[in-house]
Amino acid sequence: MRSEFSRAEVVVDLDAIRHNVRLLTDRAPGAAVMAVVKADAYGHGAVPAARAALEAGARWLGACSLAEGLALREAGITAPVFTWLDAPDVDFAPGIAAGIDLSASSTGELARIVDGARRTGKPARVHLKIDTGLSRNGCPLYAWPALVKAAAAETDVDVVAVWSHLACADEPGHPSIDAQAQRFQAAYDIAREAGLNPLRHLANSAATLTRPDLHFDLVRPGIAIYGLNPVPQHENLVPAMTFRSQVVLTKRIEAGESVSYGHTWTAARDTTLALVPAGYADGVPRALSSRMDVWLEGKRRPIAGRVCMDQLVVDCGDDEPALGAEVVLFGAGRDGEPTAREWADAIGTIDYEIVTGMYRPRVPRRYEGV
Ligand SMILES: *Cc1c(COP(=O)(O)O)cnc(C)c1O
Repeated sequence: MRSEFSRAEVVVDLDAIRHNVRLLTDRAPGAAVMAVVKADAYGHGAVPAARAALEAGARWLGACSLAEGLALREAGITAPVFTWLDAPDVDFAPGIAAGIDLSASSTGELARIVDGARRTGKPARVHLKIDTGLSRNGCPLYAWPALVKAAAAETDVDVVAVWSHLACADEPGHPSIDAQAQRFQAAYDIAREAGLNPLRHLANSAATLTRPDLHFDLVRPGIAIYGLNPVPQHENLVPAMTFRSQVVLTKRIEAGESVSYGHTWTAARDTTLALVPAGYADGVPRALSSRMDVWLEGKRRPIAGRVCMDQLVVDCGDDEPALGAEVVLFGAGRDGEPTAREWADAIGTIDYEIVTGMYRPRVPRRYEGV
């Protein structure tokens, strides 16, 4: 049964998130799971997703910015939280006061964390990040011994972990994975030689699923928690997000009549059109114009012509959908509806970008399995 909603809505199935987290905890029996809930939990809602993940056995939460971490604390979440990327002028003190673990990629960043710790009167919990080959965030190997030495000497810092991030884990067997693992080991050895005894974490979703040898103490899955599979092999993950709308108008048009801006689609025969009040301002990429189906009254039906800012049109042939009939734009794919992966493939991106892009003030989010 359809509940009341205005034009379009995102429905997040928290039971799916719990199922996916249980699958990941089972796959990494020797490691704790850090559920990555950055970017508002990839568009699913950071606080509800974090709570569901913790209920299902995740022990840590990972976010990108300190602001994202603090929002979890403000919601009353007390589990370990780790954040790793902020502007150089961020004040770490509120994060340290809130017991949030921080990442340091350089001695400069470490010094700013130490400054925050002194002002807080509490040691900072720090994870030292080694760049093992992604060449993005993280300390390059040539600067690593100095960073480790500075952290080991610092009484206002507890070094909790050494960590890194993989570039190509979604391509199992890619030679960079082993190369990064070797550098990670070398960086860890240097930390041990400096007298530290840190945890280690390296694996994202793809490595959690395919590289048990790289699980170490903690794994950091993100996308798989939301049920999207980053690796080529089948995994029993359940996509948590459904994007849906409803039919607000139907009409017959005659063969030869054209539809929507630019008249890029013309009816080959007399047909019934259904108007759906969801457009690119709601998260339907305009690039899907005439290139994707929706799921409507038990069938896939094609989008006819351009996706507009607020609406799109569906070709229903000789069927006459009911006003208010549910239109699934993408979902878990169980019944045959399109998936976020199918959208991504159609427009040349990844499903990460599709679901993360669904966080829009215009589109209400509703939770199932609360
Ligand atoms: C986003 C992110 C993850 C999670 O990656 P997935 O591919 O979504 O599993 C883990 N670690 C870091 C540092 C990240 O930025």
